[in-house]
Amino acid sequence: MTVATLQPDSELRDLYRELILEHSRRPRNFGKLDDATHVADGINPLCGDKLRLYLQLEENQVVAAAFEGSGCAISVASASLLTELLVGQDRATALSYFQEVVAHLNGKLPAGLTTPELDKIHALEGVREFPTRIKCATLAWQALQSAISGQSGPATTE
Ligand code: ZN
Repeated sequence: MTVATLQPDSELRDLYRELILEHSRRPRNFGKLDDATHVADGINPLCGDKLRLYLQLEENQVVAAAFEGSGCAISVASASLLTELLVGQDRATALSYFQEVVAHLNGKLPAGLTTPELDKIHALEGVREFPTRIKCATLAWQALQSAISGQSGPATTE
Protein backbone atom coordinates (compact mmCIF):
# COMPACT_ATOMS: atom_id res chain seq x y z
CA MET A 1 0.00 0.00 0.00
CA THR A 2 1.35 3.36 -0.93
CA VAL A 3 0.58 6.47 0.94
CA ALA A 4 0.14 9.57 -1.13
CA THR A 5 2.16 12.36 0.33
CA LEU A 6 0.75 15.78 0.05
CA GLN A 7 3.36 18.27 -0.96
CA PRO A 8 1.72 21.65 -0.89
CA ASP A 9 5.03 23.41 -1.43
CA SER A 10 5.80 21.69 -4.69
CA GLU A 11 2.20 22.02 -5.88
CA LEU A 12 2.37 25.70 -5.19
CA ARG A 13 5.64 25.86 -7.06
CA ASP A 14 4.05 24.22 -10.08
CA LEU A 15 1.26 26.78 -10.01
CA TYR A 16 3.79 29.57 -9.85
CA ARG A 17 5.77 28.09 -12.73
CA GLU A 18 2.58 27.94 -14.76
CA LEU A 19 1.77 31.56 -13.98
CA ILE A 20 5.24 32.64 -15.12
CA LEU A 21 5.08 30.58 -18.31
CA GLU A 22 1.62 31.83 -19.08
CA HIS A 23 2.60 35.47 -18.63
CA SER A 24 5.82 35.05 -20.61
CA ARG A 25 4.05 33.38 -23.52
CA ARG A 26 1.15 35.81 -23.60
CA PRO A 27 2.37 38.94 -21.86
CA ARG A 28 -0.33 41.41 -20.86
CA ASN A 29 -0.15 44.98 -22.10
CA PHE A 30 2.64 44.16 -24.52
CA GLY A 31 3.45 46.84 -27.06
CA LYS A 32 3.96 50.56 -27.31
CA LEU A 33 1.71 52.96 -25.44
CA ASP A 34 1.16 55.96 -27.69
CA ASP A 35 -0.22 58.19 -24.93
CA ALA A 36 2.56 57.43 -22.46
CA THR A 37 3.56 60.28 -20.18
CA HIS A 38 6.43 58.38 -18.55
CA VAL A 39 8.85 56.04 -20.31
CA ALA A 40 11.92 54.20 -19.05
CA ASP A 41 14.23 51.57 -20.42
CA GLY A 42 15.51 48.68 -18.39
CA ILE A 43 18.58 46.66 -19.26
CA ASN A 44 19.89 43.56 -17.56
CA PRO A 45 23.21 42.85 -19.27
CA LEU A 46 23.83 39.67 -17.30
CA CYS A 47 20.92 37.91 -18.96
CA GLY A 48 20.33 40.07 -22.02
CA ASP A 49 16.91 41.30 -20.91
CA LYS A 50 15.81 44.60 -22.42
CA LEU A 51 12.52 46.32 -21.98
CA ARG A 52 10.87 49.69 -22.35
CA LEU A 53 8.14 50.51 -19.88
CA TYR A 54 5.38 52.96 -20.76
CA LEU A 55 3.12 54.59 -18.21
CA GLN A 56 0.29 56.99 -18.73
CA LEU A 57 -0.39 59.09 -15.67
CA GLU A 58 -3.36 61.35 -15.28
CA GLU A 59 -3.72 63.46 -12.17
CA ASN A 60 -1.13 61.36 -10.36
CA GLN A 61 -2.85 58.09 -11.24
CA VAL A 62 -1.61 55.36 -13.56
CA VAL A 63 -4.37 54.97 -16.16
CA ALA A 64 -2.43 52.73 -18.55
CA ALA A 65 0.80 50.73 -18.53
CA ALA A 66 2.53 48.73 -21.25
CA PHE A 67 5.93 47.38 -22.14
CA GLU A 68 7.88 46.09 -25.07
CA GLY A 69 11.22 44.40 -25.43
CA SER A 70 12.68 40.96 -25.18
CA GLY A 71 14.12 38.85 -22.46
CA CYS A 72 13.90 35.62 -20.54
CA ALA A 73 10.59 34.21 -19.31
CA ILE A 74 11.07 35.65 -15.82
CA SER A 75 11.77 39.20 -16.98
CA VAL A 76 8.80 39.17 -19.36
CA ALA A 77 6.43 37.62 -16.82
CA SER A 78 7.51 40.14 -14.19
CA ALA A 79 6.89 43.07 -16.55
CA SER A 80 3.53 41.62 -17.53
CA LEU A 81 2.49 41.26 -13.89
CA LEU A 82 3.72 44.77 -13.15
CA THR A 83 1.56 46.35 -15.84
CA GLU A 84 -1.48 44.51 -14.52
CA LEU A 85 -0.81 45.60 -10.96
CA LEU A 86 -0.16 49.25 -11.68
CA VAL A 87 -3.22 50.37 -13.56
CA GLY A 88 -5.52 52.33 -11.27
CA GLN A 89 -2.84 53.00 -8.67
CA ASP A 90 -1.53 56.40 -7.75
CA ARG A 91 2.12 57.33 -7.92
CA ALA A 92 2.82 56.77 -4.23
CA THR A 93 1.24 53.30 -4.31
CA ALA A 94 3.22 52.39 -7.43
CA LEU A 95 6.44 53.39 -5.67
CA SER A 96 5.50 51.45 -2.56
CA TYR A 97 4.87 48.39 -4.78
CA PHE A 98 8.33 48.88 -6.28
CA GLN A 99 9.94 49.01 -2.85
CA GLU A 100 8.08 46.00 -1.50
CA VAL A 101 8.61 43.80 -4.56
CA VAL A 102 12.31 44.56 -4.93
CA ALA A 103 12.96 44.10 -1.21
CA HIS A 104 11.02 40.85 -1.18
CA LEU A 105 12.74 39.38 -4.23
CA ASN A 106 16.09 40.28 -2.69
CA GLY A 107 15.10 38.41 0.46
CA LYS A 108 15.07 41.54 2.59
CA LEU A 109 11.51 41.39 3.90
CA PRO A 110 11.42 39.21 7.02
CA ALA A 111 7.62 39.21 7.01
CA GLY A 112 7.33 38.58 3.29
CA LEU A 113 4.84 40.38 1.09
CA THR A 114 2.21 42.12 3.15
CA THR A 115 0.24 43.93 0.45
CA PRO A 116 -2.56 41.55 -0.65
CA GLU A 117 -2.62 43.08 -4.15
CA LEU A 118 0.93 41.85 -4.69
CA ASP A 119 -0.04 38.22 -4.16
CA LYS A 120 0.94 37.10 -7.67
CA ILE A 121 4.50 38.26 -7.02
CA HIS A 122 4.89 35.08 -4.98
CA ALA A 123 5.17 33.39 -8.38
CA LEU A 124 8.52 35.13 -8.90
CA GLU A 125 10.07 34.49 -5.51
CA GLY A 126 11.80 31.29 -6.63
CA VAL A 127 14.46 33.59 -8.08
CA ARG A 128 15.66 34.35 -4.57
CA GLU A 129 17.62 31.09 -4.71
CA PHE A 130 19.39 32.28 -7.86
CA PRO A 131 21.01 35.69 -7.36
CA THR A 132 21.57 36.28 -11.09
CA ARG A 133 17.88 35.72 -11.78
CA ILE A 134 16.77 38.22 -9.14
CA LYS A 135 17.78 40.93 -11.60
CA CYS A 136 15.58 39.40 -14.29
CA ALA A 137 12.60 39.59 -11.93
CA THR A 138 13.30 43.10 -10.66
CA LEU A 139 14.20 44.71 -14.01
CA ALA A 140 10.73 45.96 -14.87
CA TRP A 141 10.35 47.30 -11.32
CA GLN A 142 13.58 49.26 -11.58
CA ALA A 143 12.26 50.71 -14.84
CA LEU A 144 9.02 51.60 -13.07
CA GLN A 145 10.93 53.52 -10.44
CA SER A 146 12.95 55.36 -13.12
CA ALA A 147 9.85 56.16 -15.14
CA ILE A 148 7.92 57.56 -12.21
CA SER A 149 10.76 59.53 -10.71
CA GLY A 150 11.66 60.84 -14.15
CA GLN A 151 15.30 59.82 -14.07
CA SER A 152 16.97 60.10 -17.42
CA GLY A 153 18.90 57.26 -18.94
CA PRO A 154 18.15 53.56 -18.83
CA ALA A 155 17.61 51.72 -15.59
CA THR A 156 20.16 49.02 -15.29
CA THR A 157 20.50 46.19 -12.87
CA GLU A 158 24.26 46.78 -12.64
ZN1 ZN B 1 16.58 37.35 -17.62
